[in-house]
Amino acid sequence: MKILVLNCGSSSLKYQLIDMTDESVIAKGLCERIGINGSLLTHQKIGSDKIEIKSPMPTHSEAVKLVFDALMNNEYGVIKSMDEVTAIGHRVLHGGTKFTESIIVDDDVKTAIRECFDLGPLHNPANLMGIEACEKVAANKKNVAVFDTSFGMSMEEKAYLYAIPYEYYEKYGIRRYGFHGTSHMFVSRETINFGKLKDNAKVIVCHLGNGGSVSCSIGGKCVDTSMGLTPLEGLIMGTRSGDIDPAIVQYICNKENKTVNEVLDILNKKSGVLGMSGGISNDFRDIEEAEKQGNHLAHIALEAFKYRVAKYIGAYIVAMNGVDAISFTAGVGENDKRSRKEICEYLKFLGVEIDDNENSVRSEKKLISTKDSKIKIFIIPTNEELAIARETKRLVG
Ligand code: AMP
Repeated sequence: MKILVLNCGSSSLKYQLIDMTDESVIAKGLCERIGINGSLLTHQKIGSDKIEIKSPMPTHSEAVKLVFDALMNNEYGVIKSMDEVTAIGHRVLHGGTKFTESIIVDDDVKTAIRECFDLGPLHNPANLMGIEACEKVAANKKNVAVFDTSFGMSMEEKAYLYAIPYEYYEKYGIRRYGFHGTSHMFVSRETINFGKLKDNAKVIVCHLGNGGSVSCSIGGKCVDTSMGLTPLEGLIMGTRSGDIDPAIVQYICNKENKTVNEVLDILNKKSGVLGMSGGISNDFRDIEEAEKQGNHLAHIALEAFKYRVAKYIGAYIVAMNGVDAISFTAGVGENDKRSRKEICEYLKFLGVEIDDNENSVRSEKKLISTKDSKIKIFIIPTNEELAIARETKRLVG
């Protein structure tokens, strides 16, 4: 069985064709500048060089058509006909409270995705465009929507409700949803399987990339997760502030004569380690480099980032009344041994011990705690595309 996985943005479309017999990627690529002059498809048959195809893509439909053409091409394609693709899995950002799980797309599902445009204004419209393009170009294929928010749907009211007037939840659905859900679902399950843990193991996943979030789950069911109504809540990220006193918004508005929207833009795009470091970079490698050169603000930004992650881990251990394993994933989590080590140093009093040799790796699925460590610590590379493909197979297979 071959599954096509699509992640559509407003002017882009990322894809992978995955052979589910061994879960290997057989081709992947990216359409850029959809709806803009200069549309470009970059396609790669795995094991071969990337090729570039310049062709107009006024809408996502032309992009999907070009992707299928590339997949079926005699020279750089990997399939003979569209029949070889069993189904298409779509990354969809927001499912509101309706979707606690992935689902096969029908008219009701599309209506629900549309109803969540307010909650995911940048992503949901594009995600729906991708689905509708597939319905047009590959009319006989089943489309599966895999929501980034469904992992968070198992949170209890005490975890997902904000302490604001309840009517705002009732009227507008203002609650904590959590994001990176597909990654947290994948990594928490992989942790249990790879670590040979019991089925109802208590797992904390630290997804530390340019965006960052922490989740805790029991047996793969989310108990709590650090992002909220939007991805702004929680950790200090590349450009996002994470948790702050909401009164800061009004204070900056008054002092700088800015609108709420302008300040929120600053909190989303100019804060985090970028803002704390005095504007050095949103890239953690650049901040680490500046720290090495003796830059104090870079040092403080990294310290604050790790301190915040450790505080969330502490809170989640309490929320679950214990923890069996903690996994690190995404750009920083998978690659940065120092961040992993220093975050875990906050957990020493719980008997956590990192094995420095085992920790000296990048992006490798492995146990990095010592055999005496009271809590198992893992690196588990995330793979959202594979998670989407597995969900699609589960629903159509
Ligand atoms: P992601 O959003 O998951 O792609 O992660 C991107 C972030 O991971 C960027 O800020 C990178 O600087 C960071 N990253 C990647 N490799 C390393 C590394 N070896 N050390 C520190 N940060 C890294």
